[in-house]
Amino acid sequence: PWEYAPAPESREIANLKPSYRMFVDGEFVDGGGEPLKSINPATEELLAEVSSASESDVDTAVRAARRAFDGTWSTMPGRERAKYLFRIARLIQERARELAVLESLDNGKPIKESRDADIPTAAAHFFHHAGWADKLGYAGYGPDPRPLGVAGQVIPWNFPLLMLAWKIAPALACGNTVVLKPAETTPLTALVFAEICQQAGLPPGVVNILPGAGDIGAALVAHPGVDKVAFTGSTEVGKQIQRSVAGSGKKLTLELGGKAANIVFDDAPLDQAVEGIVNGIFFNQGHVCCAGSRLLVQESIADELLEKLRIRVRTLRVGDPLDKNTDVGAINSAEQLGKITELAASGDAEGAERWTSPCPLPEKGFFFSPTVFSGVHQSMRIAREEIFGPVLSVLTFRTPAEAIAKANNTPYGLSAGIWTEKGSRILWAAQQLRAGVVWANTFNRFDPTAPFGGYQESGFGREGGRAGLEAYLDV
Ligand code: NAD
Repeated sequence: PWEYAPAPESREIANLKPSYRMFVDGEFVDGGGEPLKSINPATEELLAEVSSASESDVDTAVRAARRAFDGTWSTMPGRERAKYLFRIARLIQERARELAVLESLDNGKPIKESRDADIPTAAAHFFHHAGWADKLGYAGYGPDPRPLGVAGQVIPWNFPLLMLAWKIAPALACGNTVVLKPAETTPLTALVFAEICQQAGLPPGVVNILPGAGDIGAALVAHPGVDKVAFTGSTEVGKQIQRSVAGSGKKLTLELGGKAANIVFDDAPLDQAVEGIVNGIFFNQGHVCCAGSRLLVQESIADELLEKLRIRVRTLRVGDPLDKNTDVGAINSAEQLGKITELAASGDAEGAERWTSPCPLPEKGFFFSPTVFSGVHQSMRIAREEIFGPVLSVLTFRTPAEAIAKANNTPYGLSAGIWTEKGSRILWAAQQLRAGVVWANTFNRFDPTAPFGGYQESGFGREGGRAGLEAYLDV
Protein backbone atom coordinates (compact mmCIF):
# COMPACT_ATOMS: atom_id res chain seq x y z
CA PRO A 1 0.00 0.00 0.00
CA TRP A 2 1.18 3.50 -0.71
CA GLU A 3 -0.11 7.03 -0.32
CA TYR A 4 -0.55 9.29 -3.29
CA ALA A 5 0.93 12.77 -3.12
CA PRO A 6 -0.95 15.88 -4.16
CA ALA A 7 -0.09 17.87 -7.30
CA PRO A 8 2.50 19.01 -8.30
CA GLU A 9 4.34 16.00 -6.88
CA SER A 10 1.83 13.83 -8.69
CA ARG A 11 3.42 14.81 -11.99
CA GLU A 12 6.75 13.54 -10.66
CA ILE A 13 5.25 10.33 -9.33
CA ALA A 14 3.61 9.77 -12.71
CA ASN A 15 6.99 10.49 -14.32
CA LEU A 16 5.04 12.78 -16.65
CA LYS A 17 6.99 13.84 -19.72
CA PRO A 18 6.20 16.83 -21.92
CA SER A 19 5.88 14.56 -24.94
CA TYR A 20 5.37 10.90 -25.75
CA ARG A 21 6.14 8.95 -28.90
CA MET A 22 4.47 5.95 -30.48
CA PHE A 23 5.94 2.45 -30.20
CA VAL A 24 6.66 0.45 -33.35
CA ASP A 25 8.93 -2.56 -33.83
CA GLY A 26 10.42 -2.20 -30.36
CA GLU A 27 11.34 1.50 -30.74
CA PHE A 28 9.77 4.80 -29.74
CA VAL A 29 9.34 6.83 -32.92
CA ASP A 30 7.56 9.95 -34.12
CA GLY A 31 4.30 9.36 -35.96
CA GLY A 32 3.30 10.99 -39.20
CA GLY A 33 -0.06 12.23 -37.86
CA GLU A 34 -1.02 15.50 -36.21
CA PRO A 35 0.16 15.26 -32.53
CA LEU A 36 -2.57 14.68 -29.93
CA LYS A 37 -2.89 16.88 -26.87
CA SER A 38 -3.58 14.97 -23.68
CA ILE A 39 -5.58 17.11 -21.27
CA ASN A 40 -6.09 16.66 -17.54
CA PRO A 41 -9.91 16.61 -17.39
CA ALA A 42 -9.89 17.72 -13.75
CA THR A 43 -7.98 20.95 -14.44
CA GLU A 44 -8.23 21.38 -18.24
CA GLU A 45 -4.42 21.76 -18.29
CA LEU A 46 -2.23 20.23 -20.97
CA LEU A 47 -0.55 17.08 -19.67
CA ALA A 48 1.55 16.12 -22.66
CA GLU A 49 1.78 16.11 -26.43
CA VAL A 50 1.56 12.68 -27.94
CA SER A 51 2.76 11.86 -31.40
CA SER A 52 0.07 10.24 -33.46
CA ALA A 53 0.12 7.68 -36.25
CA SER A 54 -0.56 8.21 -39.93
CA GLU A 55 -2.00 5.57 -42.24
CA SER A 56 1.50 4.71 -43.42
CA ASP A 57 2.54 4.18 -39.77
CA VAL A 58 -0.32 1.67 -39.48
CA ASP A 59 1.18 -0.21 -42.41
CA THR A 60 4.68 -0.10 -40.88
CA ALA A 61 3.38 -1.38 -37.53
CA VAL A 62 1.33 -4.20 -39.06
CA ARG A 63 4.37 -5.31 -41.08
CA ALA A 64 6.52 -5.25 -37.94
CA ALA A 65 3.92 -7.34 -36.11
CA ARG A 66 3.86 -9.82 -39.00
CA ARG A 67 7.66 -10.17 -38.97
CA ALA A 68 7.59 -10.77 -35.22
CA PHE A 69 4.81 -13.35 -35.64
CA ASP A 70 6.63 -15.21 -38.41
CA GLY A 71 9.97 -14.83 -36.66
CA THR A 72 10.04 -16.35 -33.23
CA TRP A 73 6.90 -15.40 -31.35
CA SER A 74 4.28 -17.74 -32.79
CA THR A 75 6.48 -20.83 -32.69
CA MET A 76 8.16 -20.17 -29.34
CA PRO A 77 7.16 -22.80 -26.74
CA GLY A 78 4.32 -21.58 -24.56
CA ARG A 79 6.44 -21.80 -21.44
CA GLU A 80 8.86 -19.27 -22.98
CA ARG A 81 6.05 -16.86 -23.91
CA ALA A 82 4.75 -17.25 -20.36
CA LYS A 83 7.99 -15.87 -18.97
CA TYR A 84 7.47 -12.61 -20.85
CA LEU A 85 3.89 -12.32 -19.61
CA PHE A 86 4.96 -12.95 -16.02
CA ARG A 87 7.67 -10.30 -16.38
CA ILE A 88 5.17 -7.79 -17.75
CA ALA A 89 2.78 -8.54 -14.87
CA ARG A 90 5.51 -7.99 -12.29
CA LEU A 91 6.67 -4.77 -13.95
CA ILE A 92 3.10 -3.43 -13.86
CA GLN A 93 3.11 -4.17 -10.14
CA GLU A 94 6.50 -2.54 -9.65
CA ARG A 95 5.38 0.57 -11.51
CA ALA A 96 1.85 0.52 -10.06
CA ARG A 97 2.10 3.84 -8.28
CA GLU A 98 3.39 5.66 -11.34
CA LEU A 99 0.74 4.03 -13.56
CA ALA A 100 -2.11 4.75 -11.14
CA VAL A 101 -1.28 8.44 -10.80
CA LEU A 102 -0.75 8.79 -14.55
CA GLU A 103 -4.09 7.06 -15.24
CA SER A 104 -5.92 9.40 -12.87
CA LEU A 105 -4.23 12.46 -14.40
CA ASP A 106 -5.09 11.41 -17.95
CA ASN A 107 -8.54 9.91 -17.40
CA GLY A 108 -9.93 11.83 -14.39
CA LYS A 109 -10.81 8.72 -12.38
CA PRO A 110 -10.35 8.76 -8.57
CA ILE A 111 -6.91 7.63 -7.47
CA LYS A 112 -8.42 5.04 -5.13
CA GLU A 113 -10.02 3.38 -8.17
CA SER A 114 -6.91 3.39 -10.38
CA ARG A 115 -4.85 2.25 -7.37
CA ASP A 116 -7.20 -0.51 -6.19
CA ALA A 117 -8.98 -1.56 -9.38
CA ASP A 118 -7.47 -0.57 -12.75
CA ILE A 119 -3.78 -1.24 -12.20
CA PRO A 120 -3.92 -4.38 -10.02
CA THR A 121 -6.56 -5.92 -12.31
CA ALA A 122 -4.38 -5.17 -15.34
CA ALA A 123 -1.48 -7.00 -13.66
CA ALA A 124 -3.85 -9.84 -12.74
CA HIS A 125 -4.76 -10.27 -16.41
CA PHE A 126 -1.13 -10.76 -17.35
CA PHE A 127 -0.56 -13.21 -14.48
CA HIS A 128 -3.69 -15.16 -15.44
CA HIS A 129 -2.80 -15.38 -19.13
CA ALA A 130 0.85 -16.17 -18.40
CA GLY A 131 -0.56 -19.27 -16.75
CA TRP A 132 -2.44 -20.26 -19.92
CA ALA A 133 0.46 -19.80 -22.35
CA ASP A 134 1.89 -23.30 -21.81
CA LYS A 135 -1.45 -25.02 -21.17
CA LEU A 136 -3.42 -24.25 -24.33
CA GLY A 137 -3.16 -27.87 -25.41
CA TYR A 138 -4.86 -28.92 -22.18
CA ALA A 139 -7.52 -26.21 -22.30
CA GLY A 140 -9.89 -28.24 -24.45
CA TYR A 141 -8.67 -26.79 -27.74
CA GLY A 142 -6.96 -29.93 -28.99
CA PRO A 143 -3.26 -30.73 -29.00
CA ASP A 144 -2.03 -27.91 -31.22
CA PRO A 145 -4.26 -24.82 -31.24
CA ARG A 146 -2.70 -22.17 -33.45
CA PRO A 147 -2.54 -18.40 -33.01
CA LEU A 148 -4.37 -16.31 -35.59
CA GLY A 149 -1.57 -13.92 -36.56
CA VAL A 150 -1.60 -10.13 -36.19
CA ALA A 151 -4.32 -8.73 -33.93
CA GLY A 152 -5.53 -5.17 -34.59
CA GLN A 153 -6.99 -3.88 -31.32
CA VAL A 154 -8.86 -0.64 -30.62
CA ILE A 155 -9.81 0.42 -27.09
CA PRO A 156 -11.81 3.20 -25.36
CA TRP A 157 -10.85 5.76 -22.73
CA ASN A 158 -12.76 4.57 -19.68
CA PHE A 159 -10.24 1.97 -18.39
CA PRO A 160 -7.19 2.70 -20.55
CA LEU A 161 -4.59 0.32 -19.12
CA LEU A 162 -7.11 -2.31 -18.06
CA MET A 163 -8.72 -2.49 -21.52
CA LEU A 164 -5.23 -2.79 -22.97
CA ALA A 165 -4.53 -5.72 -20.63
CA TRP A 166 -7.82 -7.42 -21.58
CA LYS A 167 -6.74 -7.22 -25.21
CA ILE A 168 -2.98 -7.78 -25.17
CA ALA A 169 -2.62 -10.49 -22.47
CA PRO A 170 -4.74 -13.21 -24.19
CA ALA A 171 -3.37 -12.30 -27.63
CA LEU A 172 0.23 -12.78 -26.52
CA ALA A 173 -0.50 -15.87 -24.43
CA CYS A 174 -1.86 -17.57 -27.54
CA GLY A 175 1.14 -16.55 -29.67
CA ASN A 176 -0.34 -13.64 -31.65
CA THR A 177 1.33 -10.28 -32.16
CA VAL A 178 -0.47 -6.99 -31.64
CA VAL A 179 -1.01 -3.50 -33.00
CA LEU A 180 -3.11 -1.57 -30.48
CA LYS A 181 -4.67 1.86 -30.79
CA PRO A 182 -5.53 3.52 -27.48
CA ALA A 183 -8.28 6.15 -27.27
CA GLU A 184 -7.23 9.64 -28.34
CA THR A 185 -7.96 11.20 -24.93
CA THR A 186 -6.08 8.59 -22.85
CA PRO A 187 -2.94 7.34 -24.61
CA LEU A 188 -0.41 7.82 -21.79
CA THR A 189 -0.49 4.58 -19.79
CA ALA A 190 -0.43 2.58 -23.05
CA LEU A 191 2.88 4.25 -23.88
CA VAL A 192 4.29 3.51 -20.42
CA PHE A 193 3.15 -0.06 -21.05
CA ALA A 194 5.31 0.05 -24.20
CA GLU A 195 8.30 0.91 -21.95
CA ILE A 196 7.37 -2.09 -19.82
CA CYS A 197 7.47 -4.29 -22.94
CA GLN A 198 11.01 -3.02 -23.59
CA GLN A 199 11.98 -3.59 -19.95
CA ALA A 200 10.61 -7.14 -20.17
CA GLY A 201 12.78 -7.78 -23.22
CA LEU A 202 9.78 -8.57 -25.42
CA PRO A 203 11.00 -9.19 -28.99
CA PRO A 204 10.54 -6.12 -31.25
CA GLY A 205 7.22 -6.01 -33.12
CA VAL A 206 5.30 -8.32 -30.77
CA VAL A 207 3.50 -5.29 -29.30
CA ASN A 208 3.06 -2.02 -31.22
CA ILE A 209 1.16 0.98 -29.81
CA LEU A 210 -0.25 3.55 -32.21
CA PRO A 211 -1.93 6.60 -30.68
CA GLY A 212 -4.40 8.28 -32.99
CA ALA A 213 -8.03 9.22 -33.56
CA GLY A 214 -10.84 7.14 -35.04
CA ASP A 215 -9.44 7.32 -38.59
CA ILE A 216 -6.34 5.42 -37.45
CA GLY A 217 -8.55 2.83 -35.75
CA ALA A 218 -10.47 2.47 -39.01
CA ALA A 219 -7.23 2.11 -41.02
CA LEU A 220 -5.95 -0.52 -38.58
CA VAL A 221 -9.05 -2.73 -38.67
CA ALA A 222 -9.22 -2.45 -42.48
CA HIS A 223 -5.53 -3.30 -43.02
CA PRO A 224 -5.23 -6.51 -45.06
CA GLY A 225 -2.30 -7.67 -42.89
CA VAL A 226 -4.50 -7.86 -39.80
CA ASP A 227 -5.94 -11.34 -39.10
CA LYS A 228 -8.03 -10.60 -36.04
CA VAL A 229 -9.86 -7.46 -34.94
CA ALA A 230 -10.78 -6.82 -31.31
CA PHE A 231 -12.72 -3.67 -30.50
CA THR A 232 -14.09 -2.18 -27.30
CA GLY A 233 -16.09 0.99 -27.64
CA SER A 234 -19.43 2.37 -28.71
CA THR A 235 -22.08 0.30 -30.47
CA GLU A 236 -22.14 2.85 -33.29
CA VAL A 237 -18.43 2.41 -34.11
CA GLY A 238 -18.71 -1.36 -33.50
CA LYS A 239 -21.29 -1.56 -36.29
CA GLN A 240 -19.02 0.40 -38.64
CA ILE A 241 -16.17 -2.00 -37.88
CA GLN A 242 -18.42 -5.00 -38.46
CA ARG A 243 -19.23 -3.62 -41.91
CA SER A 244 -15.58 -2.81 -42.59
CA VAL A 245 -14.31 -6.35 -41.91
CA ALA A 246 -17.30 -8.16 -43.48
CA GLY A 247 -16.15 -10.67 -46.08
CA SER A 248 -12.46 -10.21 -45.23
CA GLY A 249 -12.10 -13.48 -43.33
CA LYS A 250 -10.81 -11.63 -40.27
CA LYS A 251 -11.96 -12.90 -36.89
CA LEU A 252 -13.85 -10.22 -34.98
CA THR A 253 -14.85 -9.65 -31.36
CA LEU A 254 -16.83 -6.60 -30.23
CA GLU A 255 -17.33 -5.34 -26.68
CA LEU A 256 -19.83 -2.51 -27.01
CA GLY A 257 -22.25 -0.42 -24.97
CA GLY A 258 -24.78 -1.36 -22.33
CA LYS A 259 -27.81 -0.24 -20.35
CA ALA A 260 -27.75 -2.65 -17.44
CA ALA A 261 -30.67 -3.20 -15.10
CA ASN A 262 -29.97 -3.45 -11.39
CA ILE A 263 -33.09 -5.19 -10.03
CA VAL A 264 -34.03 -4.85 -6.36
CA PHE A 265 -36.75 -7.18 -5.03
CA ASP A 266 -38.77 -6.45 -1.89
CA ASP A 267 -36.87 -9.04 0.17
CA ALA A 268 -33.44 -7.60 -0.71
CA PRO A 269 -30.93 -6.61 1.98
CA LEU A 270 -31.55 -2.90 1.38
CA ASP A 271 -28.40 -1.36 2.85
CA GLN A 272 -26.26 -3.79 0.91
CA ALA A 273 -28.32 -3.06 -2.22
CA VAL A 274 -27.77 0.68 -1.79
CA GLU A 275 -24.00 0.12 -1.76
CA GLY A 276 -24.29 -1.99 -4.92
CA ILE A 277 -26.46 0.60 -6.66
CA VAL A 278 -24.00 3.39 -5.80
CA ASN A 279 -21.04 1.30 -6.95
CA GLY A 280 -23.00 0.22 -10.02
CA ILE A 281 -23.61 3.72 -11.36
CA PHE A 282 -21.06 6.06 -9.75
CA PHE A 283 -17.91 3.91 -10.00
CA ASN A 284 -15.61 5.54 -12.57
CA GLN A 285 -18.13 8.42 -12.98
CA GLY A 286 -20.48 5.93 -14.64
CA HIS A 287 -18.06 5.58 -17.58
CA VAL A 288 -18.55 1.84 -17.44
CA CYS A 289 -20.02 -0.28 -20.24
CA CYS A 290 -21.69 -2.54 -17.67
CA ALA A 291 -22.81 0.32 -15.35
CA GLY A 292 -26.07 -0.38 -13.51
CA SER A 293 -27.68 2.63 -15.13
CA ARG A 294 -31.30 1.44 -14.79
CA LEU A 295 -32.47 0.75 -11.25
CA LEU A 296 -35.57 -1.46 -11.29
CA VAL A 297 -37.10 -1.47 -7.83
CA GLN A 298 -40.16 -3.33 -6.58
CA GLU A 299 -42.93 -0.80 -6.03
CA SER A 300 -43.60 -1.69 -2.38
CA ILE A 301 -40.07 -0.70 -1.29
CA ALA A 302 -39.39 2.07 -3.82
CA ASP A 303 -39.87 5.04 -1.47
CA GLU A 304 -37.78 3.51 1.31
CA LEU A 305 -34.99 2.49 -1.04
CA LEU A 306 -34.87 5.88 -2.77
CA GLU A 307 -34.66 7.67 0.55
CA LYS A 308 -31.75 5.48 1.67
CA LEU A 309 -30.10 5.96 -1.71
CA ARG A 310 -30.28 9.77 -1.56
CA ILE A 311 -28.81 9.77 1.95
CA ARG A 312 -25.91 7.63 0.73
CA VAL A 313 -25.31 9.61 -2.47
CA ARG A 314 -25.11 12.84 -0.43
CA THR A 315 -21.96 11.45 1.20
CA LEU A 316 -20.10 10.97 -2.10
CA ARG A 317 -17.26 13.41 -2.60
CA VAL A 318 -16.90 14.75 -6.10
CA GLY A 319 -13.66 16.44 -7.08
CA ASP A 320 -9.89 16.14 -7.38
CA PRO A 321 -9.12 12.67 -8.75
CA LEU A 322 -5.76 12.71 -6.94
CA ASP A 323 -7.36 13.13 -3.52
CA LYS A 324 -7.69 9.67 -2.08
CA ASN A 325 -10.99 10.63 -0.41
CA THR A 326 -12.61 11.43 -3.75
CA ASP A 327 -15.41 9.07 -4.75
CA VAL A 328 -16.41 10.60 -8.10
CA GLY A 329 -13.73 12.17 -10.28
CA ALA A 330 -13.79 14.15 -13.51
CA ILE A 331 -15.71 13.38 -16.70
CA ASN A 332 -13.09 12.38 -19.26
CA SER A 333 -13.68 15.14 -21.82
CA ALA A 334 -15.73 18.24 -22.55
CA GLU A 335 -17.41 16.28 -25.33
CA GLN A 336 -18.52 13.50 -22.97
CA LEU A 337 -19.72 16.09 -20.43
CA GLY A 338 -21.80 17.65 -23.21
CA LYS A 339 -23.38 14.27 -24.06
CA ILE A 340 -24.27 13.58 -20.43
CA THR A 341 -25.72 17.08 -19.96
CA GLU A 342 -27.83 16.74 -23.11
CA LEU A 343 -29.22 13.31 -22.18
CA ALA A 344 -30.00 14.43 -18.62
CA ALA A 345 -31.86 17.45 -20.05
CA SER A 346 -33.98 15.04 -22.12
CA GLY A 347 -34.99 13.39 -18.83
CA ASP A 348 -36.31 16.77 -17.57
CA ALA A 349 -38.08 17.44 -20.86
CA GLU A 350 -39.73 14.01 -20.88
CA GLY A 351 -41.09 14.48 -17.36
CA ALA A 352 -38.77 12.47 -15.09
CA GLU A 353 -37.96 13.89 -11.66
CA ARG A 354 -34.31 14.91 -11.26
CA TRP A 355 -32.50 14.76 -7.92
CA THR A 356 -28.92 15.99 -7.74
CA SER A 357 -26.38 15.44 -5.00
CA PRO A 358 -25.65 18.74 -3.21
CA CYS A 359 -21.90 18.10 -3.19
CA PRO A 360 -20.13 21.23 -4.50
CA LEU A 361 -18.20 20.84 -7.78
CA PRO A 362 -14.73 22.23 -8.49
CA GLU A 363 -14.76 25.44 -10.52
CA LYS A 364 -12.42 24.17 -13.21
CA GLY A 365 -12.47 20.86 -15.02
CA PHE A 366 -15.24 18.64 -16.37
CA PHE A 367 -17.51 17.53 -13.55
CA PHE A 368 -21.10 16.30 -13.27
CA SER A 369 -22.94 15.83 -9.98
CA PRO A 370 -24.25 12.37 -9.13
CA THR A 371 -27.83 12.45 -10.39
CA VAL A 372 -30.87 10.24 -9.81
CA PHE A 373 -33.97 10.42 -12.01
CA SER A 374 -37.14 8.89 -10.56
CA GLY A 375 -40.52 8.44 -12.24
CA VAL A 376 -38.75 7.16 -15.34
CA HIS A 377 -40.77 5.37 -18.03
CA GLN A 378 -39.38 2.83 -20.46
CA SER A 379 -40.04 5.07 -23.44
CA MET A 380 -37.82 7.90 -22.16
CA ARG A 381 -34.38 8.37 -23.68
CA ILE A 382 -32.74 8.15 -20.23
CA ALA A 383 -34.22 4.64 -19.90
CA ARG A 384 -33.10 3.50 -23.35
CA GLU A 385 -29.84 5.24 -24.27
CA GLU A 386 -26.44 4.70 -22.74
CA ILE A 387 -25.56 7.89 -20.82
CA PHE A 388 -22.03 6.78 -19.82
CA GLY A 389 -22.03 9.18 -16.89
CA PRO A 390 -23.07 9.42 -13.21
CA VAL A 391 -26.81 9.41 -13.95
CA LEU A 392 -29.20 6.77 -12.61
CA SER A 393 -32.69 6.16 -14.02
CA VAL A 394 -35.16 4.62 -11.56
CA LEU A 395 -38.10 2.53 -12.77
CA THR A 396 -40.48 0.39 -10.70
CA PHE A 397 -42.10 -3.03 -11.14
CA ARG A 398 -44.72 -5.08 -9.31
CA THR A 399 -44.00 -8.71 -10.18
CA PRO A 400 -40.79 -10.64 -10.90
CA ALA A 401 -42.00 -11.32 -14.45
CA GLU A 402 -42.48 -7.59 -15.01
CA ALA A 403 -38.95 -6.94 -13.69
CA ILE A 404 -37.46 -9.37 -16.20
CA ALA A 405 -39.55 -7.98 -19.07
CA LYS A 406 -38.40 -4.43 -18.29
CA ALA A 407 -34.78 -5.46 -17.78
CA ASN A 408 -34.75 -7.22 -21.16
CA ASN A 409 -36.47 -4.34 -22.92
CA THR A 410 -33.22 -2.96 -24.38
CA PRO A 411 -31.22 -3.53 -27.53
CA TYR A 412 -28.17 -4.11 -25.30
CA GLY A 413 -27.33 -7.12 -23.12
CA LEU A 414 -24.03 -6.77 -21.33
CA SER A 415 -24.77 -7.13 -17.62
CA ALA A 416 -27.46 -7.10 -14.93
CA GLY A 417 -27.74 -7.17 -11.14
CA ILE A 418 -30.25 -8.93 -8.87
CA TRP A 419 -30.83 -8.15 -5.20
CA THR A 420 -32.88 -10.68 -3.22
CA GLU A 421 -32.47 -13.07 -0.29
CA LYS A 422 -34.04 -15.87 -2.36
CA GLY A 423 -31.52 -18.16 -4.01
CA SER A 424 -34.16 -19.73 -6.24
CA ARG A 425 -35.12 -16.32 -7.56
CA ILE A 426 -31.50 -15.52 -8.36
CA LEU A 427 -31.17 -18.70 -10.41
CA TRP A 428 -34.49 -18.11 -12.15
CA ALA A 429 -33.73 -14.47 -12.97
CA ALA A 430 -30.20 -15.25 -14.19
CA GLN A 431 -31.76 -17.71 -16.66
CA GLN A 432 -34.30 -15.16 -17.86
CA LEU A 433 -32.05 -12.14 -18.23
CA ARG A 434 -30.46 -11.62 -21.62
CA ALA A 435 -27.13 -10.35 -20.34
CA GLY A 436 -23.59 -11.67 -20.60
CA VAL A 437 -22.91 -11.15 -16.90
CA VAL A 438 -25.44 -11.37 -14.06
CA TRP A 439 -24.33 -10.32 -10.58
CA ALA A 440 -26.33 -11.39 -7.54
CA ASN A 441 -26.20 -9.27 -4.37
CA THR A 442 -23.12 -7.55 -5.70
CA PHE A 443 -22.15 -5.46 -8.73
CA ASN A 444 -19.12 -4.61 -10.87
CA ARG A 445 -17.07 -7.61 -9.81
CA PHE A 446 -14.33 -8.48 -12.31
CA ASP A 447 -11.90 -11.33 -12.39
CA PRO A 448 -9.56 -12.45 -15.17
CA THR A 449 -10.81 -16.03 -14.80
CA ALA A 450 -14.41 -15.07 -15.62
CA PRO A 451 -15.46 -14.50 -19.24
CA PHE A 452 -16.97 -11.06 -19.88
CA GLY A 453 -18.99 -9.98 -22.92
CA GLY A 454 -22.42 -9.22 -24.27
CA TYR A 455 -25.49 -10.19 -26.23
CA GLN A 456 -27.29 -8.29 -28.97
CA GLU A 457 -25.99 -4.74 -29.51
CA SER A 458 -23.52 -5.14 -26.64
CA GLY A 459 -21.40 -7.18 -29.03
CA PHE A 460 -20.08 -10.72 -29.21
CA GLY A 461 -17.09 -12.72 -28.07
CA ARG A 462 -15.80 -13.08 -24.54
CA GLU A 463 -12.74 -11.68 -22.78
CA GLY A 464 -11.23 -13.46 -19.79
CA GLY A 465 -11.06 -17.07 -18.69
CA ARG A 466 -10.84 -20.05 -21.01
CA ALA A 467 -13.63 -18.68 -23.22
CA GLY A 468 -11.58 -15.55 -23.87
CA LEU A 469 -8.76 -17.57 -25.44
CA GLU A 470 -11.07 -18.70 -28.24
CA ALA A 471 -10.94 -15.21 -29.73
CA TYR A 472 -7.20 -15.60 -30.36
CA LEU A 473 -6.87 -19.21 -31.51
CA ASP A 474 -7.54 -21.30 -34.57
CA VAL A 475 -8.77 -24.53 -33.12
P1 NAD B 1 -15.81 5.09 -29.34
O1 NAD B 1 -16.46 3.97 -30.08
O2 NAD B 1 -16.10 6.46 -29.77
O3 NAD B 1 -14.24 4.93 -29.40
C1 NAD B 1 -13.59 3.74 -29.02
C2 NAD B 1 -12.30 3.63 -29.79
O4 NAD B 1 -12.59 3.48 -31.18
C3 NAD B 1 -11.39 4.85 -29.69
O5 NAD B 1 -10.05 4.40 -29.63
C4 NAD B 1 -11.65 5.57 -31.01
O6 NAD B 1 -10.57 6.35 -31.44
C5 NAD B 1 -11.86 4.41 -31.95
N1 NAD B 1 -12.64 4.70 -33.15
C6 NAD B 1 -13.51 5.71 -33.37
N2 NAD B 1 -14.05 5.61 -34.60
C7 NAD B 1 -13.50 4.51 -35.17
C8 NAD B 1 -13.68 3.85 -36.43
N3 NAD B 1 -14.51 4.32 -37.35
N4 NAD B 1 -12.98 2.73 -36.66
C9 NAD B 1 -12.15 2.21 -35.73
N5 NAD B 1 -11.93 2.80 -34.53
C10 NAD B 1 -12.61 3.92 -34.25
O7 NAD B 1 -16.17 4.82 -27.83
P2 NAD B 1 -15.68 5.65 -26.56
O8 NAD B 1 -16.52 6.87 -26.47
O9 NAD B 1 -14.22 5.79 -26.54
O10 NAD B 1 -16.03 4.62 -25.40
C11 NAD B 1 -17.27 4.56 -24.83
C12 NAD B 1 -18.03 3.37 -25.34
O11 NAD B 1 -17.30 2.15 -25.14
C13 NAD B 1 -19.31 3.17 -24.58
O12 NAD B 1 -20.37 2.93 -25.47
C14 NAD B 1 -19.05 1.94 -23.72
O13 NAD B 1 -20.17 1.23 -23.34
C15 NAD B 1 -18.14 1.16 -24.56
N6 NAD B 1 -17.34 0.24 -23.75
C16 NAD B 1 -17.64 -1.09 -23.81
C17 NAD B 1 -16.94 -2.00 -23.03
C18 NAD B 1 -17.26 -3.47 -23.08
O14 NAD B 1 -16.46 -4.26 -22.60
N7 NAD B 1 -18.36 -3.88 -23.64
C19 NAD B 1 -15.93 -1.55 -22.20
C20 NAD B 1 -15.65 -0.19 -22.15
C21 NAD B 1 -16.38 0.69 -22.95
